[in-house]
Amino acid sequence: MSTFELPKSIEPLKFCQKAGRGGQSILSGQLDVGQNLAIGELLEGPDKPNHSVVVQAELIFGQDQMGFSMVTGELHTQIKLRCQRCLGLFDYPMDIQLSLSPVSSEKELESLPDYIEPLVLQPDGSLLVSNWLAEELHLALPMVPKHENREMCELTLPKGVTLE
Ligand SMILES: [Zn+2]
Repeated sequence: MSTFELPKSIEPLKFCQKAGRGGQSILSGQLDVGQNLAIGELLEGPDKPNHSVVVQAELIFGQDQMGFSMVTGELHTQIKLRCQRCLGLFDYPMDIQLSLSPVSSEKELESLPDYIEPLVLQPDGSLLVSNWLAEELHLALPMVPKHENREMCELTLPKGVTLE
């Protein structure tokens, strides 16, 4: 685990081009994206508005066999979600695999084959890292967060209270 703080903004295409075909350029570190996660009630709720969500990231920049720029790697974090069965909070570990091709124009986006997911950059080629990581977490969240089973819900309820 790296405790290096990721830069606020990066230029993924430059990293990929620099690494070249078959090459790799690795950026690993962490970033608190709590301010960028507007998940409201699904998360910690109004009782804790300024939560911190530290994402551990390993990002690998390079080019695939076809010469497409690719950002691969992993994100790891743990967030608190509110169970929609018992309304208790529970820790939800997130481990996300990335495989995206950075594009900075409509034209580049259109030239990507269907099987490659785009990573859309600003027109100047920059990417705000915290916004992006928060978006990746959003995409990986469960639609309806719940404890794994009813027994785990019962454990979080105050004594004497049972689920209907
Ligand atoms: Zn529950």
